[in-house]
Amino acid sequence: MTEQNAIAGYLKYTGNKNLDIKAALIDCDGVLFDSMKNHTRAWVKLMQKNGIKCTRDEFYMYEGMTGVEIIKKKFKEGAGKQITDDEAIALYGVKGRYFKEAGETPVMPGATAMLEALRDADIERILVSGSMQPSILDRIDQDFPGLMSEKRVTGHDVRRGKPSPEPYLKGALKAEAKPNQCIVIENAPLGVQAGHAAGCFTIGVTTGPIPEKDLYKAGADIVYPSMEALAQGLPALIAAFKQTQA
Ligand code: MG
Repeated sequence: MTEQNAIAGYLKYTGNKNLDIKAALIDCDGVLFDSMKNHTRAWVKLMQKNGIKCTRDEFYMYEGMTGVEIIKKKFKEGAGKQITDDEAIALYGVKGRYFKEAGETPVMPGATAMLEALRDADIERILVSGSMQPSILDRIDQDFPGLMSEKRVTGHDVRRGKPSPEPYLKGALKAEAKPNQCIVIENAPLGVQAGHAAGCFTIGVTTGPIPEKDLYKAGADIVYPSMEALAQGLPALIAAFKQTQA
């Protein structure tokens, strides 16, 4: 998919005349941090300790839902148990401990270059994550000091996780931009669905086992094979956005 084709497709289905991009709404896990291996490991451990059958791969598919939503779903489907919010929050705390024990989470290769390419184009950068994981959220200030904390959307701010458009609509509000003035950067199918449902031009990046075609199926306007590829491709994509205003 060329940049021009992706943009033409977006303009056609949205009915917009041009793209005037002011902000980038950026997912955290699997985008800024190469954290999904540790997350899926922690999820499997939590389920096994509670006698609930699961596969590691399924947690890549749930990425973007809030932790409480994932726990309630698995306990219902896997054990026929309806658990309360308080119980789910307590279990999410245990999962957070397992995540921390799984080891240091590396920064995603290419993430810093991607953020710099956006900054150089005067595109505001807003973090939008369903995560409430303190070990990750605390590291953002340290590893990505340009991402302003007062303009972040996290699991604490949203009632409904992805694929609901709510997190990305809130991100657009924080950017003081309309959704169609925002791009979304996502690695997970549910996150791509959320960005697409919010009306944003949605960029998928394959940084884990989920193939490109699944991100297109979820509604991605364009998909890049790695964060490094996105960082390299952003100047051309941004130039193509500007051409729509010529
Ligand atoms: Mg993600």
